[in-house]
Amino acid sequence: MTSIDYREFYIDGGWQSPATGSTITVHSPTTEQAIGSVPAAATADIDRAVAAARRAFDDPQGWSTWHPKQREAALERFALELESRAGETARRVSQQNGMPIWLAEQFEGGFPAVVLRYFAQLMVDAPEVDERAGMLGGTARVTRHPVGVVGAVVPWNVPQAISFLKLAPALAAGCTVVLKPAEETVLDAFLMAEAAAAAELPPGVLNVVPGGRDIGAYLVEHPGIDKVSFTGSTAAGRKIAEACGRLLRPVTLELGGKSAAILLDDVDLDASLESLFGVTFLNNGQICWLNTRVLAPRSRYGEVVDALTELARSLTIGDPLDPATRIGPLVSARQRERVEGYIATGRAEGARLTTGGRRPDGLDTGFFVEPTVFADLDNSATIAREEIFGPVLSVIPFADEDEALAIANDSEYGLGGSVWSADVERAAGLATRVQSGTIGVNHYSNDPVAPFGGIKNSGMGRELGPEGLHTFQHLRTVYLPPAS
Ligand code: NAD
Repeated sequence: MTSIDYREFYIDGGWQSPATGSTITVHSPTTEQAIGSVPAAATADIDRAVAAARRAFDDPQGWSTWHPKQREAALERFALELESRAGETARRVSQQNGMPIWLAEQFEGGFPAVVLRYFAQLMVDAPEVDERAGMLGGTARVTRHPVGVVGAVVPWNVPQAISFLKLAPALAAGCTVVLKPAEETVLDAFLMAEAAAAAELPPGVLNVVPGGRDIGAYLVEHPGIDKVSFTGSTAAGRKIAEACGRLLRPVTLELGGKSAAILLDDVDLDASLESLFGVTFLNNGQICWLNTRVLAPRSRYGEVVDALTELARSLTIGDPLDPATRIGPLVSARQRERVEGYIATGRAEGARLTTGGRRPDGLDTGFFVEPTVFADLDNSATIAREEIFGPVLSVIPFADEDEALAIANDSEYGLGGSVWSADVERAAGLATRVQSGTIGVNHYSNDPVAPFGGIKNSGMGRELGPEGLHTFQHLRTVYLPPAS
């Protein structure tokens, strides 16, 4: 395989030499070999990227002042360029983080263009002015304005889709963006930059500067940034929130989770298994909204444990580039260590391992861990409380719906979740009582039209839907006098 190497950053609409010779080398979690490299941003590179974004935003004839239809045309060109690279984008993500290729094609290859078009259209359709007859005789004229230069910091687990949860609404609203990808997944970010260049987005509208935590922190606190949008761990989110609090800088935080799938006593297990895979082991367990606690009625507990155990055993583990693979490697040796540490804790605390818990036979290279199921534990177990970010499930029994609800809500997180029943309305009724930003019935999917985000330690603010667009806009009220 040829190495994918870049020497310059995409800043100010062109390719610019880095300030230093420092580089990021990307390793495949499957082969453990180096597969490419990019320059690592230094603070001087961030300064240049922010200055370019600032100029683009402040240009009196520029992006932020364009009619939404003009931006829609530019974003359509961007969407087309992304689509022409979709296969390569999916491959690069899969090579870098172990995401099975069939999933990378949907999430990473397909979703960015969909969400770009959604937000561009939403802006075109949005009323330009909201005029309200006042209670004091006059009229209030309320308008929305782009918030400014956005600093976007993203993780490695779903790098393209998560980037576009930020880029699409920000760009559609008229903001300009400095994007800092995670070090593990930079090669796809450079492909995105190539698409932006080919689409001839105006200079400075999008700038891509990869680096580590320090560079992320520098970007977040940069005086040229007006709004921060972050996805990643709760620990990093807390630090970013503190910095933004001090700076009084608007911030959106999409953080960790420990969501629950509640299986009600009438669930059709056989018919639900494929969808249950989609909320438990998807992306090798490395998605923030996954339902890694499965709550099962005592009357059917053994049956649920057996079904999930069988499901875990049936999943093909291997090279994520093979379309038959359902479980690829974890992103890094460090992440595998963390997951194996939790498996050891689960055992030490007395949970019963029904399957998995080991590195798979025959896969000595690569950061693989077998899909793992723990039974006979309650919600106080460490593995039921902390985010593992790997393919490890805890199956917890409940007596009735009230207890299921109490267990689901007994978490420091509140991001996703699901309720499973033959009776959709029964499940939906329970779903609305779960303390969580989003929750599915008999499936789960982040539909672009509806707000996505968490409560409690899962974050603040929402992405997607009109609500996601509004986080990139300021409101301005003009009080018109009473007619004389
Ligand atoms: P991480 O928080 O360490 O890193 C995420 C990104 O933030 C990276 O680009 C990193 O360089 C940067 N970063 C880290 N510390 C920073 C700081 N102090 N200031 C500025 N930038 C900083 O997380 P990770 O290990 O890359 O990702 C896994 C975590 O992200 C999991 O906990 C997962 O639940 C969470 N996550 C949440 C969502 C969501 O939508 N809620 C989505 C994906 C991942």
